[in-house]
Amino acid sequence: MSSTQHRKFELTDPSSRPHAPDAREPIGVIGAGYVGLVTAACLASMGHRVTVREIDADKVAALQAGAAPIYEPGLVELLSSNSQRLSFTLSMAELVRDAQVIFVAVDTPPTQSGDADLARVQAAIREVVEHAAAMERLLVMKSTVPVGTGQRLVSLLRSLGAANIGYASNPEFLREGTAIADFMNPDRVVIGTFDAPAADRLEALYRPLNAPIMRTTVPSAEMIKYASNAFLATKISFINEIANVCEEVGADVSVVAQGMGMDARIGPSFLRAGIGYGGSCFPKDVAALKQLAGNSGYHFQLLTSVIEVNELQKRRVVGKLRKHLGSLEGKQIALLGLAFKPGTDDMREATSLVLAGRLQAEGVIVRGYDPVVREDERLRGVDLHDSAEAALTGADAAVLVTEWPELINLDWAAVRSSMRQPVLIDGRNALDPQAMSRAGFVYDGIGRSTK
Ligand code: NAD
Repeated sequence: MSSTQHRKFELTDPSSRPHAPDAREPIGVIGAGYVGLVTAACLASMGHRVTVREIDADKVAALQAGAAPIYEPGLVELLSSNSQRLSFTLSMAELVRDAQVIFVAVDTPPTQSGDADLARVQAAIREVVEHAAAMERLLVMKSTVPVGTGQRLVSLLRSLGAANIGYASNPEFLREGTAIADFMNPDRVVIGTFDAPAADRLEALYRPLNAPIMRTTVPSAEMIKYASNAFLATKISFINEIANVCEEVGADVSVVAQGMGMDARIGPSFLRAGIGYGGSCFPKDVAALKQLAGNSGYHFQLLTSVIEVNELQKRRVVGKLRKHLGSLEGKQIALLGLAFKPGTDDMREATSLVLAGRLQAEGVIVRGYDPVVREDERLRGVDLHDSAEAALTGADAAVLVTEWPELINLDWAAVRSSMRQPVLIDGRNALDPQAMSRAGFVYDGIGRSTK
């Protein structure tokens, strides 16, 4: 958890909750992270009573005290306005007693081999069975799990004697920073089941969203999630390579991407060149799909390149800084934006971490500023400041790492005068090159022409 200042929401006494005669199915959510909390708040806003079970006692205490343990725009407000339908607990017994449909939203981080680590998923399922072996419940997998996991989990359920616990795969596509809007207005809801009644039940739950609902098998639903993330990551690495070629031949990737995106077969999204993707999903999901393919005997060559291009892209900033500053030894360089993307405090696989490490290895004194991330143990040795202005004062160069609106709208001309040297690397192509040149910067974007 970062030290973000989280606003509080009001909680009411659960015993005073109204039990409307037409109450929707009581829901359980296992895991109070980005996906679990957003799922819980949104389903509560749709009229369900929701019990959230989390193993991190600090998170439960924060939630019970009316504070959100993560930063996600609108989440505090949604938790607050639906607090009479929400409760937070450390107890799986409590969740299982109250909930009919149980969403699993625990983390599935990568193992050393790149496979998805399913230990938390399996532990959660075993605990559900401990308390509900004889009960009729529907388990809904929101965590991203490799193809084949659903089948194996159903075998586990049956081997543990849970004959009446159903299973559905319901991959989540929300994006941190816009998670609530994404949950409430999804492009599609994917429902994978082994039997029609489970699909009917889940479809009824999602019907109020008026979103396209796609019913399929569990393995196909599991693959849709991985294939979607891998395709988006491929688009990013593709445009990043186009950007790198643009730099060699004098074209401007922003214009190229605009022209490509006007082709309806291509579309404009995910064509912004930059210094690579990060976050808690793309890196681990692409690696997991590559592993999944490898484990079943297929070498997924394209994904190997997508991953490699992304790693190299993060490091290109170092070359750009050397081009403008010469030796980086002893230079002061400010990283602006540390979270892996705007609108979140999530630092998992953030590009800023790779950059900070690389620059420190070059002898750079690395400074940093982020609108919400104020400390993180992974940023060891980075001199963190309370404002962009403070981070830039006396700096030899600035790198825009995460395109927070606050940073785009900075008074760049004013901060320029406080810097020791006017070098600005726009790692997200989010600033206007001409305006930055007029403000006195030596501006360098990714694959952009400054002419
Ligand atoms: P997260 O790390 O933010 O949250 C997971 C939470 O589950 C943690 O708070 C952890 O303490 C808790 N937990 C672990 N084991 C538990 C247990 N047995 N009982 C109760 N709680 C337990 O993770 P996240 O970002 O919300 O991701 C969850 C899953 O959803 C992952 O599989 C991820 O790949 C997938 N996903 C994430 C996003 C995203 O943008 N974050 C989007 C789509 C899908």
